Amino acid sequence: MTQHELVDQEPLVSEAATVLEKTAQDRRRGEEVRSAVRRVLGDYGRTEWEDSVLDDGDVDWDRLWDHVHAHATGGKLERTLRKLQEREERAYPSLVTVEFEPDDAMDYVPGEYVTVHYKDVPRAYSVASSPNREHVEICVRRVPGGRMTSLLCDDLAAGERIHVRGPFSGSFVGGEFLLREPSRRDVAFLATGTGVAPFKGMIDYAFEAGYDEFRGEPRDVWLFLGASWEDDLPYHEQFSALADERPNFHYVPTSSRESLLTDWTGETAYVQGTFAKYLDPAALGDVTLSDDVRGALGEERRYEVDASIDPSQVEIYACGINAMVYEIVSVAEAVGVPAANIRGEGYG
Ligand SMILES: Cc1cc2nc3c(=O)[nH]c(=O)nc-3n(C[C@H](O)[C@H](O)[C@H](O)COP(=O)(O)OP(=O)(O)OC[C@H]3O[C@@H](n4cnc5c(N)ncnc54)[C@H](O)[C@@H]3O)c2cc1C
Repeated sequence: MTQHELVDQEPLVSEAATVLEKTAQDRRRGEEVRSAVRRVLGDYGRTEWEDSVLDDGDVDWDRLWDHVHAHATGGKLERTLRKLQEREERAYPSLVTVEFEPDDAMDYVPGEYVTVHYKDVPRAYSVASSPNREHVEICVRRVPGGRMTSLLCDDLAAGERIHVRGPFSGSFVGGEFLLREPSRRDVAFLATGTGVAPFKGMIDYAFEAGYDEFRGEPRDVWLFLGASWEDDLPYHEQFSALADERPNFHYVPTSSRESLLTDWTGETAYVQGTFAKYLDPAALGDVTLSDDVRGALGEERRYEVDASIDPSQVEIYACGINAMVYEIVSVAEAVGVPAANIRGEGYG
């Protein structure tokens, strides 16, 4: 039975579910932020501010901003410090996985989503687990001030009861947002943050069920995943481990801010620019691309991958906030990926 036939047969409503585990994926990084502030002040020749702003270990941000404004330093120093302050002050956890067990078995296929109802708030979440796993998992990112994500990040605990409806399949761009049957084509998944949730299920399932092959030949499976900080890349360790294990899985994480805290040597551009860097250069001849994407193309690849993407022979799946999905789709179309081979799911 194909996945589409399976979807047609699925029940629309599952019973209540019990939360088995909630796990923070991100880390508290205050110590690293403080070291970074010290380093940045050194880089900008402002070590004399250290005693007043880092005296007892914590960063005294008010004092730091007084110094910055009094010296009218502005520009790059200010932008860097803003990013560090935002990181230090953000609520913890801001990225969680929630594993639950529906009372009745829930059949789903990779790419589907469910609606979770908790304390009378319903929201949609992609299923992040492979259907071969015993329990169901979602991956949630806190939206500052968001009703549901605040509840899920701050209040939800193992043992609690939630309601789960679904599974449902979306079709925001292209056809149904499900993993297609294997074909000769390679596959590229592109996401920012929790947009990778449906791809975790799809990728795990692809390797479990042999979807990474077609008639005995391996297909290249790419994952381009972007986030501001390294610990905002959901399942980063699992994807890195899979890439070590499977020569035809190419994991390309990109993190725009991580080098402020660590010696991150990976990609730093937006996902769509990073994707363009790993295309076969022959595909890029006269194509019109945005300045961002062209800028990324001017840089060397940061990961050694002994493969390139042929746009005419790849299936693209994009997931994340709507605007980002549209941008990926427009880059993919511009470089020659046929519209029929592009699917996208938008989170709003
Ligand atoms: C099919 C589908 C699948 C989804 N899967 C996931 C998933 O796997 N993981 C996940 O974390 N989310 C996912 N979402 C988004 C999720 O449904 C909620 O919208 C999100 O968790 C915010 O809920 P909230 O109640 O905290 O925010 P709300 O209280 O609803 O919103 C607060 C404010 O934040 C804005 N906002 C809402 N969402 C975002 C966002 N993502 N980024 C920035 N601003 C936002 C709103 O416009 C509003 O102004 C999915 C959405 C859809 C439609």
